Amino acid sequence: MIAARRRRPSVAASVSAIALAGLVTFVVGLALEPYLPHPVGAPLWATPAAVLAFVLATAVAEILRVPLMHDGAVEDLTFFEIVTVAAILLLEPRWALIAPLAGLAIVQLVTRKAPLKAAFNLGSYAVATTAAVVSYLIVCGTSPQFSVRGIAALLVGMGVFAVINTVLLAVILQAALGTSFRSVVTDFWALPVLMTLASISVGGVAVAVAPVAPALVPFTLLPALALWYAYRSAAQQEAERERNMWLVTLSGLLAEERPLASLVEDASEAVRKAFGAPLVQLLLPEAPTANVLVAACDEPVTPLRPELLPEGWTSGIAALLDLGTGRHGVLLLGDDSGSRGWTLGEQDTAVLTTVAASISSAVRGIEHRDALMEESSKLKAVVEHVSDGIAVLSSTGAVTLWSPAMARITGVSPSAATATSGEVPDPLVRLRSLAAGTAAHRAETAEVPITRPDGEQRDVSVNVVTARPADGDPVAVVTVHDITSQARTDRLKSDFVATISHELRTPLTPIKGYAQLLLARYDKMTDEQREHALGLIAERADHLGRLVEDLLMASRASGTHTLASKLASSPTPHDLRDVVAEATSNFPALGARLTVDQPLTAVPVFCDEVRAVQIVSNLVSNAAKYSPEDAPISVRIHPSEFGESHARVDVIDHGQGISADDLERVFERFYRVEDSLTMRTSGSGLGLYIARELAVAMGGALNVSSSPGRGSTFSLTLPRTEDGAKSTKSTGTADTAYARTA
Ligand code: ADP
Repeated sequence: MIAARRRRPSVAASVSAIALAGLVTFVVGLALEPYLPHPVGAPLWATPAAVLAFVLATAVAEILRVPLMHDGAVEDLTFFEIVTVAAILLLEPRWALIAPLAGLAIVQLVTRKAPLKAAFNLGSYAVATTAAVVSYLIVCGTSPQFSVRGIAALLVGMGVFAVINTVLLAVILQAALGTSFRSVVTDFWALPVLMTLASISVGGVAVAVAPVAPALVPFTLLPALALWYAYRSAAQQEAERERNMWLVTLSGLLAEERPLASLVEDASEAVRKAFGAPLVQLLLPEAPTANVLVAACDEPVTPLRPELLPEGWTSGIAALLDLGTGRHGVLLLGDDSGSRGWTLGEQDTAVLTTVAASISSAVRGIEHRDALMEESSKLKAVVEHVSDGIAVLSSTGAVTLWSPAMARITGVSPSAATATSGEVPDPLVRLRSLAAGTAAHRAETAEVPITRPDGEQRDVSVNVVTARPADGDPVAVVTVHDITSQARTDRLKSDFVATISHELRTPLTPIKGYAQLLLARYDKMTDEQREHALGLIAERADHLGRLVEDLLMASRASGTHTLASKLASSPTPHDLRDVVAEATSNFPALGARLTVDQPLTAVPVFCDEVRAVQIVSNLVSNAAKYSPEDAPISVRIHPSEFGESHARVDVIDHGQGISADDLERVFERFYRVEDSLTMRTSGSGLGLYIARELAVAMGGALNVSSSPGRGSTFSLTLPRTEDGAKSTKSTGTADTAYARTA
């Protein structure tokens, strides 16, 4: 079920209804008046001069208003009631009706009240005044004015006046502000009652005294004046108290940590209430009209020229806000109700200037804080996303910042780095000692090996900068760059240079030696000797040629492209047994050490024969090189691998084997398990790298399994058909196979 909600009538509708009620009551009152009884013995006036005097008296009474602050809104207190009492007692009832209302109408016109306000004022007073006059006439009857009944009639009449006024005020406040009817009546009852009593005493006494002792009449008005002053100062005090309350609220708001937009909104509202202004605007320099308004402010608080007023405003003042570094905003206070609207007193200007200064410094503080937060979040993003590790260490070595990249490189988590107890991990020990060894305001760089908590060794380049922040202890900012792979490449390169110079020199020495021998002793040598020398030269030159070819091939693989993607091979169908037979025939010296285990029927493979023979030869040559001289080597052919798509050949030795750590690395360029300084065996570290690349280029694979000290098995897989070769290349089956068997 949907709860029914009572809709609030609009302000315009309520005002129209009140104005209409006023008009109707007034006309009916005038029509009824001749038929109602009139008090006897009263010198009731109806002369134009008397009526005019009352019209003017009403106007003056209405203008001498006392503003009363009430919950941030301003209520006006006037002497309208006193004049009404006097009019009832002195004028003929018809004129007692017309004169006060005419005076009121004139005031509305002269002070150019907003139409809605004017209509409400006239309407509500017309209803109240007519009801007061009519009820007075009815209750008084034909009794004398100052008889008990006459006084009672006056009380009733003015009581009716007060009740109607309060009720209509409640109606309009409910429509305008949603204030509950009840709360308005309970809040406002005291003032109308007092006003009624005061009006009757002052007005009544003045009228009663006038015929007897006219000279005393001004004195009878003295209590009214005293009352007026009392009200005025009470109202001022109340206003002051209300303002102080809002100023205290404002200072609380300004001290709070809050977003700029909400501060601007709440502070403006507090200022508006403190100064009792109907309208407020706080414009920061970014607001479109701020510049023009700032330019117009030649004083801290400047009245606004009409052309500068915000839309709908009829008057206003601007207080300048100094937001630092030449930036200015404005705080506008104003009114939309006509020329006799809200104004700022002399003293208020000084208070408003102070308020504007406080708001300015609060805004500056928030802007400063926001800028700092933005900077620090940028810095945080940099620290979090940069690939180098960043840490900040205090002078005691305590970690105050440990970036995610730092945790990644060193393997030390931020919580472990900042922990104050427990074992200090090796990377942190090294960084601390580097930071401690760096002199103040210096930057130093060092390359150090670190051992991560998981045991992994890494090489890092560490840069330490020590700095002393303006207001604190010196700190060391440490950046760490992981150079492990770069260091490894550097080591491989220097190993390679050592290896390759050895490799190139080895065949060159006999070539040079035999060539010199032939030059010097050609004639004295037998044909056999010459043939032997030339054969050796040719064989070493071949070896040199192969070595250079390997080097060229390896140098073709660079950047992200593997050699396999660059090697052009021209595969055709072959029998894998033929490939193996040709490869093993290159090693007559191995004799019975080398055995081949193969099926009786052909094993079809789709490959480039020269490349396939090169791979198998390389594997057999390695098997011989890395095993004891008498250890057997076997080559075994398996007709099918990966289902039916591939065939496989294993080269099995019983040599030194390869440790688990080196198992995959033997396929890297220039990687040799052996220490390049001792070099018991010769080699370039390129053979397996090239062999694997060739196998992949043909749609096959090369991998190894080994147990150190017991031997190794290298397995070459080749596609059986052209389709197999294609599917392997496109799906990468062979790569998956490495992972499974290696
Ligand atoms: P090279 O033999 O020229 O050094 P390779 O690329 O052929 O280069 O081999 C790389 C490394 O792998 C070798 O240095 C060797 O340490 C290791 N290796 C290769 N084959 C074997 C094997 N059958 N047994 C043990 N280690 C091997």
